[in-house]
Amino acid sequence: MARTVLVTGGNRGIGLAIAQAFAAQGDRVAVTHRGKGAPDDLFGVECDITDPAAVDAAFGTIEKELGAVEVLVANAGITDDTLLLRMSEDQFGRVIDTNLTGAYRLAKRASSKMLRAKWGRMVFISSVVGLSGGAGQANYAASKAGLVGLARSIARELGSRNITANVVAPGFINTDMTAVLSDARKEEITKSVPLGRIADPAEVASAVTWLASDASAYITGAVIPVDGGLGMGH
Ligand code: NDP
Repeated sequence: MARTVLVTGGNRGIGLAIAQAFAAQGDRVAVTHRGKGAPDDLFGVECDITDPAAVDAAFGTIEKELGAVEVLVANAGITDDTLLLRMSEDQFGRVIDTNLTGAYRLAKRASSKMLRAKWGRMVFISSVVGLSGGAGQANYAASKAGLVGLARSIARELGSRNITANVVAPGFINTDMTAVLSDARKEEITKSVPLGRIADPAEVASAVTWLASDASAYITGAVIPVDGGLGMGH
C-alpha cells in the first residue's frame, strides 16, 4: 500500500537515499530543502526545521499535494564540533535546535493527522555518537541522545493508536557530513569499525523503509544501529 512519506533533509546524503528507497517502492515522497531545490523526481518543499511556521507550512503543502504524512523520517541534522571548553552557547543551542527541537516540531505536527488515521510511523535518525558520546561533539551527541528519549516517549504516548516511533543510529556513512574529515581521521574511524569499512547511505535507507513497513509493525521505541558494529555494547 502506497504511503505519504516526508523525509527532512531528503535533498542530499542519507536523507536522499531514504527518499529514493521509499519512492522506488511506490510511495508518495516529499523532501525538504532550504532553497536549493530537490532532485527532479522527488516532491520538494522549502523548509527550515528550526522555524516552527515553516514546518507547519511544509506539512500544509504536502497535505494538499500528496495527502497527510503517514511516515515521518526526521533526518535533517547538523554538526558543529569543538571541544567543550571552546563550545559557545550558540554552538550548543543551534545544534540542539536543529537536531532535537526540530524533530519535536516535526513529530508534533505529524502526530495530529496520524492520530486521526490511527496509523503512523516515525523514524528518527540519531547517531552511534548519541549513545557512546564523542570528544568534540557534546552538542551533537546530546541532541542525538535526546532523540532516543523523544522517540520512546512518543512510542508510549501514541502506541495505542498504532503509531510507532523508532530510532536509527548510523555509524560512519559516506556523505558531505563525513567528507570534511581528514583522511587520517577516516582511517582511524574505519579501523574501529568491526566491518572495516564506511557505509553507503542506501544501507541506512533499507533499515528505515523496513521500520515503516508492515514487517516491523510490532517494533516501537527501538534503537536500530546501522554502524558496522562500531557502537556495540552501548
Ligand atoms: P548532510 O550534511 O549530507 O545533509 C544534511 C541534511 O540536513 C541536508 O539535507 C540539509 O539541508 C539538512 N538540514 C540541515 N539543517 C537543516 C534545517 N535547519 N532545516 C532543514 N534541513 C536541514 O548529512 P548526512 O546525510 O550525512 O546526515 C543525515 C542525518 O544522519 C543527520 O541527522 C546526521 O546527523 C545523521 N548521521 C550521519 C552520519 C554520517 O556518517 N554521515 C552518521 C550518523 C548520523 P541543506 O541541503 O539545505 O543544507
